[in-house]
Amino acid sequence: ELTLTDIAKHFGDAAALKSVTTTMRDGEFLALLGPSGCGKSTLLRLLAGFEHPTKGSIRIGDREVANAASRLNVPPEDRNIGIVFQSYALWPHMSVRRNVGYPLEIRRLSKAEREARIDAALAATALEPYGDRMPSDLSGGQRQRVALARCLVSDPTAVLLDEPLANLDVALRASMQAVFSDFHRRTTATMVYVTHDQAEAMAMADRIAVMNNGVIVQLDTPEALYARPRSRFVAEFIGEGA
Ligand code: ATP
Ligand code: MG
Repeated sequence: ELTLTDIAKHFGDAAALKSVTTTMRDGEFLALLGPSGCGKSTLLRLLAGFEHPTKGSIRIGDREVANAASRLNVPPEDRNIGIVFQSYALWPHMSVRRNVGYPLEIRRLSKAEREARIDAALAATALEPYGDRMPSDLSGGQRQRVALARCLVSDPTAVLLDEPLANLDVALRASMQAVFSDFHRRTTATMVYVTHDQAEAMAMADRIAVMNNGVIVQLDTPEALYARPRSRFVAEFIGEGA
């Protein structure tokens, strides 16, 4: 579970986020949806620990990871979170298998345990046949699956995805959506998925947080957002994508 309490983030005089309080549940697929500049990436970066809140606190599981008042900021590598952004930087000189296992190399695990985790991550992303390939010999969608597999090996509490499909063509988007959905069914990690594609959010998410101007204006199931929008903004924004 991820909990944000009264989170604000200012850049100079501008507020990218204003008083966001919300809970993201264990195992849910939560989409963050909203127009450009509404604060989606900023919210993800705060969860990841790349930015520090100006106000408020963040908990991951039962651990507080950020608190503006006490200046607590647990660094990204200690938050047990997996991150997949648009540019999925893989190590070009390492095989798929080695890329996926890289986060485990610094951990004290037996070789058998490490290999088992890599196998499971490759299986979860349908990459079993590609373990020995180099990243340069993969398609864009396959590379993205490697990035997803790499964040899975550490068994993260949450996986944060910032418009992971934005650079892909329509056919590949559809097949990657299936990969994410399938992965979601196999894991108890909370998935937080940023998109500005309403149809994608509606199709994939258990719940959708609609954001505008630095606040979450409604957090609901796709059906409820569609049937019972709580504001004109939500009605129009959801309507546009239908
Ligand atoms: P998009 O859909 O275009 O990716 P977004 O919802 O992800 O938009 P954010 O990137 O979170 O939006 O930005 C929210 C606001 O904060 C914007 O007005 C943006 O210009 C501002 N902002 C974000 N990062 C910084 C920064 N490092 N310095 C100054 N302003 C920033
Ligand atoms: Mg963004």
